[in-house]
Amino acid sequence: MAWDFSTEPEFQTQLDWIRDFVDNTIIPLDLLCEGLDQAQLDTLWAPLKEEVKKRGLWAPHLGPEDGGQGMGQLKLAQIHEILGRHSMAPEMFGCQGPDSGNAELLAVGATEEQRKRWLEPLMRGDLRSSFSMTEPFTASSDPTEMTTRAIRDGDEWVIDGHKWFASNASVADFTLLFCITDPDAAPHQRASMIVVPKDTPGMTVVRDVGSMSHPHISEPGTLYDRIGGHSEVVYENCRVPLDHMIGEPGEGFLLSQKRLGGGRIHHAMRCIGQGQYAFEMMCERAASRQTKGRALGKMQMVQDMIAESYTQLETARLVVMRAAWAMDQGGDHGSSARTEISMIKYYVPKLTLEIIDRAIQIHGALGYTTDMPLEQMYRQGRALRIADGADEVHKQAMARQLLKNVEPVEGWPSEHLPTRRAEAEKRFGAQIAAVRGAKAAAE
Ligand SMILES: Cc1cc2nc3c(=O)[nH]c(=O)nc-3n(C[C@H](O)[C@H](O)[C@H](O)COP(=O)(O)OP(=O)(O)OC[C@H]3O[C@@H](n4cnc5c(N)ncnc54)[C@H](O)[C@@H]3O)c2cc1C
Repeated sequence: MAWDFSTEPEFQTQLDWIRDFVDNTIIPLDLLCEGLDQAQLDTLWAPLKEEVKKRGLWAPHLGPEDGGQGMGQLKLAQIHEILGRHSMAPEMFGCQGPDSGNAELLAVGATEEQRKRWLEPLMRGDLRSSFSMTEPFTASSDPTEMTTRAIRDGDEWVIDGHKWFASNASVADFTLLFCITDPDAAPHQRASMIVVPKDTPGMTVVRDVGSMSHPHISEPGTLYDRIGGHSEVVYENCRVPLDHMIGEPGEGFLLSQKRLGGGRIHHAMRCIGQGQYAFEMMCERAASRQTKGRALGKMQMVQDMIAESYTQLETARLVVMRAAWAMDQGGDHGSSARTEISMIKYYVPKLTLEIIDRAIQIHGALGYTTDMPLEQMYRQGRALRIADGADEVHKQAMARQLLKNVEPVEGWPSEHLPTRRAEAEKRFGAQIAAVRGAKAAAE
């Protein structure tokens, strides 16, 4: 395998521009946006999005046939790392979740007519979407156990069920709903993916659930609506036309896997951006804050934190680049890079939280306050150990793959030293004895 860590000069120019745009436009602008409604935000954001489009950076996660840039996961990793510095940055580049993952799903599974209706406006940023799989009363780490049903009645699907944590559902124009359409089929062929447009009778957004990142329970759509809340939604006799199904009946699991492959790697890429941002704050503080007549950075325990954080960041970056490369090589939306994707999905958020935690520590009381972005980064970062698959589930998936081709052995383990020595004796015994004998004769 050839490893090449260089960046093409033209692409580096783009990366430098993105970094400047995020740090010097998006972050300061967002500091003043508290309390603005969606229409006001759209007014402020429109010229920024135009600028991104003009530079050929809009929707970098999609192929050109779907209106994106088709730059591949490796370049995308470098872009996402910078966008990860602020939660609003992906919105300005048309690659914010859950829309980005939903666009990837539609790009794979939608018909021409469905693409025109949902994918193209989603791509342009004219529609918002949500993705709804998780249920409050089902352990949703295992999607084969879901209970939300869609039953065919004439030319309609009739949906009944209870979902939650559908991010953005309260502000979305449509939801991609994962629901069981054939409970008697094999576990991974029971579910389908159905588009439910906003305001469809029978679909009720009960609330946006309060969470660590958005601590207050609220009326639907009023909770920090520019990145959406995590909505609880009830479906009762909710009817949509048959042509709202994406893909074939029974393909829900397959389609959601394709969607989640991209989403998971993008989360990990953006996590590195959060870790890098925290690391920069940590270093600045270590160099600036004086105690006992010396900068904090002169203290060995602080130096340990800095060295440890830098090493974690660099390792995380490498495993993410490796996974991005594997995804590009496979060309199959991550199906053949599942182990690498699961690895970075659990590993990178964990490291990032540790780095943010150290940055908080080095800032002392200030780090714990809302005067610094660190406390919010910590609260938001915690979600990623659960969202898009809990750590344990990814580790389990990895171990399953890693053990798939390992043959069990009977008796002693294959590296049992007495057994190996006996085998070696058969192959090399005479040769070794001859060497020993020659030495003894010479003496
Ligand atoms: C911020 C955020 C945003 C989200 N956005 C969305 C969204 O847009 N759409 C959506 O559908 N869902 C969303 N989710 C939900 C998320 O995908 C689920 O929470 C996740 O899949 C876990 O399901 P669960 O909560 O039902 O946990 P459960 O399945 O009940 O699992 C609980 C815990 O049990 C352990 N566990 C589970 N399975 C195993 C196993 N096999 N081995 C060992 N331990 C195990 C894990 O520690 C796990 O955290 C979001 C979640 C968060 C936090």
